[in-house]
Order: sequence, then C-alpha cells, then structure tokens
Amino acid sequence: MNSYQYLIIGGGITGVTAAETIRKADTRATIGIIGEEPYLLYSRVLLPHYLKNKIKREQLFLRAQRDFYEKNIDLRLDQKVAGIDTEKQTVTLENGTRLGYEKLLISSGGKVKPWGENGVQSLVYRLQTIEDTDRLKIDLSKIKKPIVIGGSFIGLEFLEVFTLNNISPTLLLDRPFFFCKLVEKNGGEILHRNFERHGIKILTGDAVESMSMLATGEIGAVTRLGHNLEADAVAVGIGLDKNLEFLAGTKIESSKAGIRVNEFLETNQKNIWAAGDVAEFYDVILERPRSVGNWTNSFLQGQKAGLNMMGSKEAFRAVSAYSITNLGFQITALGDCGEKEGIDSVVRYDMYQHLYERFFLRQGVLVGAVLINCFKDKILLTKLIESKTKLDLYKDRLTSFDFDLKDISMVE
Ligand SMILES: Cc1cc2nc3c(=O)[nH]c(=O)nc-3n(C[C@H](O)[C@H](O)[C@H](O)COP(=O)(O)OP(=O)(O)OC[C@H]3O[C@@H](n4cnc5c(N)ncnc54)[C@H](O)[C@@H]3O)c2cc1C
Repeated sequence: MNSYQYLIIGGGITGVTAAETIRKADTRATIGIIGEEPYLLYSRVLLPHYLKNKIKREQLFLRAQRDFYEKNIDLRLDQKVAGIDTEKQTVTLENGTRLGYEKLLISSGGKVKPWGENGVQSLVYRLQTIEDTDRLKIDLSKIKKPIVIGGSFIGLEFLEVFTLNNISPTLLLDRPFFFCKLVEKNGGEILHRNFERHGIKILTGDAVESMSMLATGEIGAVTRLGHNLEADAVAVGIGLDKNLEFLAGTKIESSKAGIRVNEFLETNQKNIWAAGDVAEFYDVILERPRSVGNWTNSFLQGQKAGLNMMGSKEAFRAVSAYSITNLGFQITALGDCGEKEGIDSVVRYDMYQHLYERFFLRQGVLVGAVLINCFKDKILLTKLIESKTKLDLYKDRLTSFDFDLKDISMVE
C-alpha cells in the first residue's frame, strides 16, 4: 500500500494550494493529491470568460503536469475517493486501491444540485466543470431560445454568455426577484431593469412543474402559474451540494453546509482537515460557522490548511468577497449577506444611476454588504467588517448616498 505523509482529496485550487504550501516548507515530505476530474488544475472563475470568448481554452489551466513533477507531488487524476478509514488512516479509491496517510485534507468542493427529468437532460446546461463549459461552448451556435433558471451568480453568468452571443434568454425565477437573499426589492428592480435593457425576458414567482421533449426537439415546460414555455436549452444555476459521499461510515462531522471544522480547519477527527467549498468553518470575524463558495477563500484556506497540517496552529481569518462584472454592472457580496435571524439591514440606492448598497448588521455591527456599482467602497467595508465596527450610530445616515462611509470612525 502506498502511504503519504500528506494526502489531499480534491485537485481544485484548495487542494493544490495546500500541497504547494506544504512542499514549500518541507522539501522531503511525501505528498499525494487524488482528483476525480481528469484535468489539471483549471480556473472555474475563468470558465464564463472562455464562453464569452475573452480567453482561449488553454488559458483556463493554471498548472502543467511538469509543475507537479518538479515539486514531487504525486497527482492522481481521474481517481475518486470512495471511503475513509479514520482508525487505520487510509482512504479507499473507487477502483479498490487503498492509500495510507499521516495527515489528510478533504478539499472535495461541490457538485451541481440535480435538476430536471432524465429525458430532457440533453438540453439542460450546467456551469461547474470544464466539461459543462465545453459542451455549452459547442452548442451555443445552435441555441436560439434558452431559459435560465436561478437567481444566482451562475445564473448571471449564463445571462451574459447568452446575450453576448446575441441570444435573448428568458429568466425564470421562483422568487419575486433576482438575488432575493442578497438584495431587497429596490435592488431587485435595479437588476431587473438592467436585464430588460439587455433584452432578457423575466418571469418571477414561478417554476417549472413538468417538462417533456416535444416533436420539434425542444423542451416543453409547464410552470406552476400555468405558462407553457418552449426552449431549446435550459441553463440551470441553482447552487451546489457538497461532495461528502465518501464520509459515509466515518465519524467526521458534517451537514448539508459542509464538513464541520474549527477556526484551524481541523475536523473532529484526528489528523483530518477540511477546507475550501466543502468546509463549514468557524469564522472568527463573524463568530459563527459558515460555508463560503469563492476562489480567494479556497486559496487562502488551502494555504492555511497546509500550514496547520504541518504543525502550525493559525486561525483562518478573512472577510469573504465574491465580485463579478456582468451586463455592465459591477456586483460584490462581502462577508455575511442575507436575511437571517438576528441580522437586520440598511439600504441606500439610486435607481437612475443604478447604484445600490445593502449593509447587514448583527447587534449593530457590520457583518456583510452587497454593492451594485459601488466597488470603490469594498476595501473600506471589508475593514469595517474585520474591525467589528458598530454602525448603530450611523444607521439613519447610511440610507443616503450623501453620507460618505469614510466619515465612520473605525474601531482600531
Ligand atoms: C462558473 C464558475 C464561476 C465562478 N466564479 C467565481 C468568481 O468570479 N469569484 C469567486 O470568488 N468564485 C467563483 N467561483 C467559485 C470558485 O471557483 C470555487 O469557490 C472554487 O473553485 C472552489 O475550490 P475548491 O478547490 O474548494 O473546490 P473545487 O474547485 O470544486 O475542487 C474540488 C475537486 O475535488 C474533486 N472531488 C470531489 N469529490 C472527490 C472524490 N470523492 N475523490 C477525488 N476527488 C474528488 C472534484 O471533482 C473537484 O475537482 C466560480 C465557480 C464557478 C463554477
């Protein structure tokens, strides 16, 4: 049986960063990565850019085979972990191979939530992997009337990919407006007006109830509100399920939100860490468990996990940020956004200049913010979240763009 001092499940940005961090500090350790996808590390962030013809396919790839060879990292691609034995400190692959570890990192990310019946999948498009992207790229030239489902960042990417290819999509939202967890109705209106300016038709508060393939080769969908829709493609952006199946039979603590880890990214089992999209970590800034799906967070957690696996004991500390420029709008979500118990929010907007900011407060402290076309405030707001500055005093003034955020006195 092959054994590694450091074994990593998942060859995405988290896993590769952890492996490289370990190698930098220890030139002799044995390091292995098991990756289910058959591809070398590529940027998921850049997948939409490839669909929008902004980059070439080869620019998606962030590492070459020789990088792993030179760093003496044993990269096992196209191999899937099926189980872990935490007592014997081994993992078993789907092909039956067993591998030993001294320290194990789980960085297995997520996969798209299933959508739609089997019979229509030939016209259903997802955007998580390079294979999803290749398929859509090839089919774009024949798509004329797609439906986009889901008010998410991936939904936004689909909308822009289609409009840039001169295709007018219909957006179907089961909520009253796009991003309805992040923005309230005024933010929704700013976004919807922009979609309509780009020729996107929007149906809200509705969802596909049944669907079938029509004789025309298109999908016929009947919605809850009784609309009959016909589409030659359905592009679905409804979020991810975490890749956790191989935890079955172990005592590694997890939930739908991910593998539970503390601020040091340690699981409840000895010698096992988890990081990146698959982890639900204890956020020391927000003082609660969270799971985050973004690139920088994954990279930073990969680094931190690598260091901690080697014996450091450093808490992971960062304000998460997801930024996108889409259909002419710049949109950023910082920290903890969304309506939850114990969190209230303050909004300021300018409908005509398409400006919008929503500040999320917990007990008066800023914990998150959504910015539309207000990117200049990102750094200051990040610092305010980090420093746990109380904004109670400013609540009334925050509702207007006349108030300059620089006038807030930050906790040192
Ligand atoms: C289209 C798209 C656009 C995005 N845009 C942005 C953006 O603009 N900004 C931003 O911050 N973030 C963005 N993201 C999110 C960001 O890409 C992810 O947060 C990040 O890639 C997660 O990295 P990860 O390494 O934790 O997980 P992943 O990249 O999901 O890697 C995990 C790897 O583990 C493998 N794996 C799973 N199970 C097993 C198993 N049993 N055995 C072996 N291997 C396994 C998976 O196949 C996968 O290759 C985007 C994501 C997508 C899909």
